[in-house]
Amino acid sequence: MNEYLKKYIELKKRFSAADGGPDSVRALYGFKKELEQSGDRQAKEVLVDVYDLLDFKKDAYDLLSRIGNRSDRKVLKRLGTLKEYAESWGNHYAVPMPKTPKEKQQEKERWARMGLPVFRYHPDPLDTGAFKESEEGVVCDCCGKITRLFYTAPFFSVEDIDYLCPECIADGKAAQKYDGSFHDDYSVDDGVDDPERLDELIHRTPGYCGWQQEYWRAHCGDYCAFLGYVGARELRALGVLDEVLDDPMWDEEQKEMIRESVNGGHLQCYLFQCLHCGKHMVWMDFD
Ligand SMILES: [Zn+2]
Ligand SMILES: [Zn+2]
Repeated sequence: MNEYLKKYIELKKRFSAADGGPDSVRALYGFKKELEQSGDRQAKEVLVDVYDLLDFKKDAYDLLSRIGNRSDRKVLKRLGTLKEYAESWGNHYAVPMPKTPKEKQQEKERWARMGLPVFRYHPDPLDTGAFKESEEGVVCDCCGKITRLFYTAPFFSVEDIDYLCPECIADGKAAQKYDGSFHDDYSVDDGVDDPERLDELIHRTPGYCGWQQEYWRAHCGDYCAFLGYVGARELRALGVLDEVLDDPMWDEEQKEMIRESVNGGHLQCYLFQCLHCGKHMVWMDFD
């Protein structure tokens, strides 16, 4: 057995033992990079397995098509299976690379330099896609200034708004000017007594896009931070699947659905975290 294969078997073992936990995924990503940079044929053969394991199905298929020996029946059979996955999944469901705290911090500093204010209830709005970047900039409907970051998630108002800058959301100007809101005030967990917190959530916080009515979780007497769109795989990679299942919101049947959810699939989970005790929670809905 060659060195690459040996290492692959060891990393795969760690990956299944950790149930797809963050360190085991990071280790596989490191190995993937090493194999991608190698010119060794044996390395490329193992790289097919790594792509396959991490669900980069298109990359696995493309690589095996290039290097596989088509007179080998085993290779042909595998190509057939991978082709089906590659055509229906692409690389879309690949296991995401977990970010290190340092990477997160660097990203936040970059956003701050671009003029992104701090949103308590939606701390990574570029990560979640609530804001997008425009190279040349767009004009904010509300303040008329040019902004490189513009809002893409729902804004409920009678007027049609094309662009909002982060600043006009953070200071409440957009909600006030258009008598609008970024989230429905009835679709929230009970248990938050301070009306100022509801005001901040619905009038000064970027929303998110659900399949159906969006819903905001609360814990420890306050609304939670929305962290992003996830499925069971992302919850495992973050190491929080058990934590989100420990929630009186869900019965056994619903817990099973969370365990089977796929990010971007029919059953979507939305991840929240309590700003006070740190507990992770989800909301889920269907397309
Ligand atoms: Zn503006
Ligand atoms: Zn809490």
